[in-house]
Amino acid sequence: MEERLRVLREAASRGFEVLEGGGSALDAVVEAVVVMEDSGLLNAGVGSALTFDGVAELDAGVMSGDGLLGAVAAVRRVKNPVVLARRVAELTDHVLLVGEGAERLAEALGLLVPEGVLVTPEKLRRLEELKARWRRGEDFGWLTRLRRLVEEYPGLFGTVGAAAVDRAGGVAAATSTGGYWLKMRGRVGDTPIPGAGFYAAKGVGACSATGIGEAIIRFMLCRRVCDLIALGLDAQSAADEAVRRMSEELGRGLAGVAAVDAAGRVGFAFNTEVMLVGYARRGKVEAKLLGAPQSL
Ligand code: ASP
Repeated sequence: MEERLRVLREAASRGFEVLEGGGSALDAVVEAVVVMEDSGLLNAGVGSALTFDGVAELDAGVMSGDGLLGAVAAVRRVKNPVVLARRVAELTDHVLLVGEGAERLAEALGLLVPEGVLVTPEKLRRLEELKARWRRGEDFGWLTRLRRLVEEYPGLFGTVGAAAVDRAGGVAAATSTGGYWLKMRGRVGDTPIPGAGFYAAKGVGACSATGIGEAIIRFMLCRRVCDLIALGLDAQSAADEAVRRMSEELGRGLAGVAAVDAAGRVGFAFNTEVMLVGYARRGKVEAKLLGAPQSL
């Protein structure tokens, strides 16, 4: 746990350094997410989960209040899908590139890595363990998955994301994930879906989500958070209210969000047991496990 908190502190402070150096909110969220993708300790980039048949298919999305919007889904052999998502926005006329086509762009940009970087013997062993349990009849349906597995394998989930506001009042959000273990090949969750796994609105705020993608897409969670900020709520109240409404509609144990509003206030809310969060502002960098019993 301490190691993962260290990664979050590092991500938050690197993102903040970008802002202090005059970088945009977009630069900052991408920088922070790259730190988390490279850590190998969270479910994104190097640490990504594997599909049922043992491949790593990664999703990521990025959006700024200035209108930059890019995402990639089900990409293999890409260590930093958040960087590829940004390049989709900057270099193409498209918003979302998937699979082989996205990998071709990654290859052209020098963003491909050998398969073994993302599919390691240790991960294949973990996959076999999970599959053995699935064969014995354990229920890994999407509604029970998070509640159950998170207790037994604390490192199993952990999509990463960031939201930031810069000096000029610009906002941006980025999210990156390996999805979840035992997912079908080709399954895409909320992470690369604008409004679901990430969203940013000019003069309003930005939001990044984690949790069960199928539920987050149904609820359009990040868009809802930003809409509530636009109605006048601060980031914390908007995050609380969106998650409360989601719990009412779809049940608990499904999701968490990190949000900022354009005034620079942060908000975290979740209806899962725990959520790891980190943030940085001038003179303060902090990472913590919210909602956790001390033993975690
Ligand atoms: N939201 C991710 C997905 O459904 C999983 C996660 O947050 O861990 O793909």
